[in-house]
Amino acid sequence: MMAGLLFARAGCKVQVLEKHADFFRDFRGDTVHPSTLELLRELGLLDEFLKRPHDEVRKLTGRVANEQIVIADMSHLPVQSRFVALMPQWEFLDFLAQEASHYPNFNLKMEAEATDLLLENDRVVGLRLSSGEEIRARLTIAADGRSSVLRDKAHFPRKDLGAPIDVLWFRLPKEKTAANETGGTFGAGAMIVEIDRGDYWQCAYVVPKGAAEAIKAKGIDAFRKEVAHAAPELAPVVGTLKDWDQVKLLSVSLDRLTRWWRPGLLAIGDAAHAMSPVGGVGINLAVQDAVAAANILAGPLAAGRDVDPLLKKVQERRLFPTRVVQAVQKAVHDRVLTPLVVRKIVLDKVPWPLRLFQRLPFLSRIPARLVGLGVRREHIRSPDAGLRR
Ligand SMILES: Cc1cc2nc3c(=O)[nH]c(=O)nc-3n(C[C@H](O)[C@H](O)[C@H](O)COP(=O)(O)OP(=O)(O)OC[C@H]3O[C@@H](n4cnc5c(N)ncnc54)[C@H](O)[C@@H]3O)c2cc1C
Repeated sequence: MMAGLLFARAGCKVQVLEKHADFFRDFRGDTVHPSTLELLRELGLLDEFLKRPHDEVRKLTGRVANEQIVIADMSHLPVQSRFVALMPQWEFLDFLAQEASHYPNFNLKMEAEATDLLLENDRVVGLRLSSGEEIRARLTIAADGRSSVLRDKAHFPRKDLGAPIDVLWFRLPKEKTAANETGGTFGAGAMIVEIDRGDYWQCAYVVPKGAAEAIKAKGIDAFRKEVAHAAPELAPVVGTLKDWDQVKLLSVSLDRLTRWWRPGLLAIGDAAHAMSPVGGVGINLAVQDAVAAANILAGPLAAGRDVDPLLKKVQERRLFPTRVVQAVQKAVHDRVLTPLVVRKIVLDKVPWPLRLFQRLPFLSRIPARLVGLGVRREHIRSPDAGLRR
């Protein structure tokens, strides 16, 4: 959606395709980080964006062995918005779609599922929808997520980094509080992230990869007890989980393509590199890919030039940040999640690296920088053709 907005702003005729009928679904992730907020500011859209319902989180905290620890403190970042905006992803997508709709050359087509690529002389010239309709394009961008059909159809080679976890995703009621209380509980051989969405918790209960079926087989009552044990503060409300329809399995993967492009086609976002939930950075990395793609391609495309020779530059630009973030995610998978969630090690005291964060609070500025702004941050450089109505 971000790529669609930027290419339309640069004067290209854009068609964004979405297979679902609406955005109102449980997407993975609610975190709009300072890096993305800065991009919205550069586009002059930040004030409008912040009018949408959201919460602002300046410190990311976790409860480890019953102690509250500040893991990332955003309040010193060198940007205007020194916070993570917690906004359900449907709201963010709807915002971008609304902004893009101001461009007469932008069109969003819902219930349009891409099923195949159209090829001519081995060049991608568009795609086919499940309805049989063919859409031709000078450039096709595969932004269809971690289960991308298009990346498979393009035969892009992929490196799987493995992920030891999946996530069970469910809601539990909560009292509204003045401050957003999003946080996580690590310990008791389990991990649960609680996203504060006002009058309910959006809970992400981390389980070993492939374990969901066995957990379900034990029954909902056993699951309620497990959740209450992992996060005792949720014990009074777990009773509202009545059946498995309320619990969704979100499958986690960590991989990347070793080639993101071929003539006529470019993969970005999770389609190019599926991200783990660790750090809540995937949405923001996908947005940065979209900005880089527009910076490199939108001007030449709008001017009618052949952009095939430029496609590799997008991969060259974005591979480094992808590698860095995935290396950190993999380290957290191996050193934190596997011991806690897979081997079920019980934390009875705060591990020493986290103890350091408690003693030297300025250390929490380092993860804040990595998570909040990332590496090789993009800025809006693509042209504005002045077509906005
Ligand atoms: C459990 C979990 C929690 C996460 N939490 C966070 C978080 O808090 N913050 C964060 O930043 N990241 C988080 N992530 C990572 C984040 O979800 C992804 O990195 C991010 O959504 C990638 O964005 P994308 O636009 O590339 O793909 P997606 O968000 O997956 O979007 C792809 C879109 O394409 C559509 N689509 C798919 N196939 C087709 C098709 N064939 N035709 C037409 N449309 C199609 C889909 O319906 C979807 O709308 C989490 C990941 C997991 C697994």
